[in-house]
Amino acid sequence: MTRIPLIAGNWKMYLTRTEAVALASAVAAATQGLTDREVMIAPPFTALAAVKEAVASSPVKVAAQNVGWEKEGAFTGEVSPPMLLDAGIEMVIIGHSERRHIFGEDNSMINRRLRAALQFALMPILCIGETLAEREAGNTFNVLEEQLTQGLAQITAEQMSNVVVAYEPVWAIGTGKTATDAQAQEVHAFIRELLARSYEKTLADCIRILYGGSVKPENVDSLMARPDIDGVLVGGASLNATTFERIIYFR
Ligand code: PEP
Repeated sequence: MTRIPLIAGNWKMYLTRTEAVALASAVAAATQGLTDREVMIAPPFTALAAVKEAVASSPVKVAAQNVGWEKEGAFTGEVSPPMLLDAGIEMVIIGHSERRHIFGEDNSMINRRLRAALQFALMPILCIGETLAEREAGNTFNVLEEQLTQGLAQITAEQMSNVVVAYEPVWAIGTGKTATDAQAQEVHAFIRELLARSYEKTLADCIRILYGGSVKPENVDSLMARPDIDGVLVGGASLNATTFERIIYFR
């Protein structure tokens, strides 16, 4: 069982194309020859093609921040899987808490996006996470189980081997509050257990589970030291090349 660490940056709705290419070029320069971990960046749609070109000769992977579930059609505001493939994109973030809570995306919509991504060989990162109210009410595990099982509905074991899961407690995203590494490890172990129940232990042991929520140079090392934390999904701290580089080279 080897799980290659994945360090992923989510640029959200930041950066013009010029700014995005400059940051992507810095990340590419910092990762030349890197083989023991994977690095991914997710720029806004408008910068995807330019960023892909800027990192072409590096190991950096480029992801979209969402994907539509149809190939084409009357779906204003959506971008389809073939359109992402056409821009050279290989991965996609699905079900980010901002999509769920600001834009009202529910588990069934997220599942449709996930299935479409897999159908077109885009590697999805499925984000799940509880709100502060849900945690305080003792509902963390129930919420995560529902998001995971509904989000992964109809996903076969073969497809599952290409899925990455990200645990992102909503109360830790963009707030400066990080889950402790012990809190994160507890949840990651729970998620792996759920995956083992839905699929098989051998498969669950191969699936990467990332932690996200105010990851920074100061906390990445202790998070990554935990056995079930296989990488991080980084928002704010991925917008600065030096900070992101330190996170990539966690110790
Ligand atoms: C995110 O956007 O997925 C995220 C975790 O943001 P931040 O690192 O800024 O909390």
